[in-house]
Amino acid sequence: MLARLGLVFVVFALAVPAKAEHLFVRNQNEYAHALKQIEAGDIIILANGEWRDFELVITGKGNKDKPIIVMSEEAGKVFLTGQSSLRIGGEHILVTGLVFKDGYSPRGEVISFRRTKQDQARNSRVTEVVVDNFSKPDRYESDYWVGMYGHNNRFDHNHLVGKTNKGVTLAVRLDSKESRDNGHRIDHNYFGPRRPLGSNGGETLRIGTSRYSMYQSGTTVESNVFDRTSGEVEIISSKSGGNVFRGNLFLRAQGTLTLRHGDGNLVERNVFLGYGENHTGGIRVINRHQTVRDNYMEGLRGKAFSSALAVMNGVPNSPVNRYVEVDGARIENNTIVDSRRVAFNVGADEERSAPPLNSVFSNNLLGGLEGESFIERYDDTSGIAFTGNRVIQGGVDEALPEFAQAPAELQRAENGLLYPIDPALAELGAPSDLKVPSLDSVGVNWYPKPGQETAFGGSGRELEVAPGDDTLPAALIVAQTGDVLVLEPGDYIVDRTLAIDTTIAIRGKSVDGQELPRILFARPTLFELRQGANLQLSNLIIDGALTPDSVGNSMIRTTSFPIQSNMRIELDGVTVQDLMVNKSFNVLTMGKSAFANSIVIRNSNFSNITGSIVSAAAETEDYGQYNVEYLDIVDSNFANIGGPIAQIYRGGRDESTFGPYVKILRNNFADAGLAATNGTGGSIHLHGVQVAEIAQNNVARSAPFRVVHTVGTPSTTISENQFADTPEMLLEELNFDGPHRALLSGNVFDEGERE
Ligand code: CA
Repeated sequence: MLARLGLVFVVFALAVPAKAEHLFVRNQNEYAHALKQIEAGDIIILANGEWRDFELVITGKGNKDKPIIVMSEEAGKVFLTGQSSLRIGGEHILVTGLVFKDGYSPRGEVISFRRTKQDQARNSRVTEVVVDNFSKPDRYESDYWVGMYGHNNRFDHNHLVGKTNKGVTLAVRLDSKESRDNGHRIDHNYFGPRRPLGSNGGETLRIGTSRYSMYQSGTTVESNVFDRTSGEVEIISSKSGGNVFRGNLFLRAQGTLTLRHGDGNLVERNVFLGYGENHTGGIRVINRHQTVRDNYMEGLRGKAFSSALAVMNGVPNSPVNRYVEVDGARIENNTIVDSRRVAFNVGADEERSAPPLNSVFSNNLLGGLEGESFIERYDDTSGIAFTGNRVIQGGVDEALPEFAQAPAELQRAENGLLYPIDPALAELGAPSDLKVPSLDSVGVNWYPKPGQETAFGGSGRELEVAPGDDTLPAALIVAQTGDVLVLEPGDYIVDRTLAIDTTIAIRGKSVDGQELPRILFARPTLFELRQGANLQLSNLIIDGALTPDSVGNSMIRTTSFPIQSNMRIELDGVTVQDLMVNKSFNVLTMGKSAFANSIVIRNSNFSNITGSIVSAAAETEDYGQYNVEYLDIVDSNFANIGGPIAQIYRGGRDESTFGPYVKILRNNFADAGLAATNGTGGSIHLHGVQVAEIAQNNVARSAPFRVVHTVGTPSTTISENQFADTPEMLLEELNFDGPHRALLSGNVFDEGERE
C-alpha cells in the first residue's frame, strides 16, 4: 500500500514538512478526539486490531496538496466488525487499508461518500478497502455497500465480495444537484462473487435511478473486474447519461451491462468471458445516443435480456421508468464469438412497440454456436444500418440479409483473445491492442480473492461412523466443511435435530449382503439447514417411523432465521420411507428467505409420505422472489405420496431473475398428490418457473401435473410421459393472452389397470 500511496507522501513531504500531524489512535474515544483537531495534511492512523461496532466518520477540509488521511497502521490489519460503517464528508479526504467483515452496517450503506445529506464528499478517495460478506442477515433487507455522492470522488483498488442481501453493491446517487455531472471514477476494483439473489435488487453497480435518469452523471467505470457477479439480470445498471464503461473484465458473470436509462453513454474496450456458463451475457442497449464499440465477448450463453448483445425495442413516448426507444446507437467493431445470441428488438410486445431508429451496426465480427440460431430480430430493423459485419458461425434470421456469412479461422493472440488469421478481416471486430485486466491489477494484494466454493468431499477427509444412538450427532460435531461421514451398515437412532452449517456429505457404505445404513429419526426434523449449509446424502435409508406428531414435520428444513448463503442439497441413492405421523410431513421444506442454488434428487426412492417431496413455495408475496434456482428430480421412484413431488412458487411480474429451472425426468409416480391436504391439486405444481423440462415419467393413479406461467417468456417442455388413471394436465397462463405456451409432445394418457 505504501508504494501506491508513495506519491501522496512525497507531496506531503514537500508541502508540509513540519505541520502535518500523525495521530495514532487505539480506540473509538481516541479517534473522536483526533477528529476534533484535524487539519489539512493530517493523518489519523488506526491501530491494528478489531474495531467492533465502529461507525467511522471523517469530515474536514483537506486540499489537493494536503489531503486528510485516515489509514490503517498496516494495510489489512484493521478490521471493522459488528455494526460498523464509514461515512465521508468534506473534501480531499482519503481512506485506506480497512477491512469490513463479520458484521453488517446498521445503516443503509457500509461506505458512504456523505456524512449527512448536506455534507457530501468532494475530491475524496477510498482505496484499498475490503468489504467481505458484510451483508445484512435478512436476504430481503436492503442496503448498499457503497453509496457515492458529491463530486469528483474516486473509488479504486477496493475488494467487494459476497453480498447476499438485497440492494446494489455500489450505487452512484444523483439525488442532489451537487451529485450530478459528478466526474466520479470507479476503477481497478475487484467485484467478487455475488450469488443469484432470487429477486430484483441484485445489481453490482448502478449509476442513477429512473427518476434522475435525464441528468448527466459523467461517471467513469474503468479497469474493474466483475468476477461471478451473478445477482440478477443486470450486472451494471446505468440509469443516467454521459457515463463511460471502459476496459472492464466480466468473468463468468450472469447478466449484462445494461444501459437501462439515460442517454449518451460510452461502452468500449470491455471484455466479457462467459466460459459457457448459463446466462452469461454482454451488453443491453436502450435509450438514445449510446456508443458500444471495441468490446470483446466470448463463451456467453445468455439469450433474450442476457444476450451477448441485446438491442431493445422501446415504448412510444416512454414514461421515465419504462423503455425509451433506441435512437442514434452506434455499435461498431465488437467481437462476439462462441456466444449464443445477438438480438434486435428484444422485449418487443404490445407495450414495447418502438423499434430502434437512426442507428448503425457495423464492422462487427460475429460467431455463434454451430448449428444454432444466433442473430435474431423480433420486429422492424429498418432503423439500423447494417454495414461490414461478418458472421463466421451460427444462423442468421432470414430477414437480416445484410450480414455476410462465411467461416473464418481465428487464433489466440498474446492478450488471450481470438482474432481472424486472414489479414483481410483485420479491420473487423475488437482492436488488437485490447488489454484484459488481470486479477492482480484489481482490488488489493493483501487479501485473497475467493476461489471456487467447497465441493462435497472437497476436504478429502472421510470420517467413519459406527451404528448406534449418538454416533451420527457426535460425528457431525467434529466434522469440518468438505468432510464426508461414511456410515457403516446398521441402524442409527437420532433423537435430536442435526444442525448443518457447513458443506457436509453423509454417505452409506455398501457391504455385500447387508442392508444400507438406516437412519431413524425421533424429532420432527432430522436436518436443519443453517447459514453456510450444503448437504449431500447418498446410499442411505431414512425412516420416519419414530417421529413424533407435530405441526409441519419435515425431514430436512431450513432454519427459521434468514439465511444469507445459497445452498446446495443433493439426495443420491437415498430411500425415504414412512413419513406418515401427521397429515403433511415433507421431505424437504425451503422456508422464507432461504435460497438453494441447486436441489438434486437422483436414483432415490420415496414411499409412504404424507406431504411434499420438495416444497419451495415460501415466497408468496409475488415480489418475484423464490426459493430455488435449479431443481433436478431424475431417475427416482415415488409411491403413495400425499403432496406434490415438487411445489415451486415464483410469483409476480418482475423480470430481473433467471430461474427457477426445473427438470423432472425418468421418474415413476404412483398414487402421488392425492391427499386432501394437498392444496395445489397437482402431483407437480410449478408456478412461475422460467424453464421446465418434464419428460419420460411414468405416472399412475396420481393428481395431474399443474404448470402456471406468469411473466416473461417461460419455456416449458412436457414430453413422452405416460399417464395411467391420471387426469389431463392443468396448464394456466396468467399474463399472456392465448393458448398455453408449453410444448407438449408424445404424452400418452390411458385408463390403466384398476386394482
Ligand atoms: Ca434490476
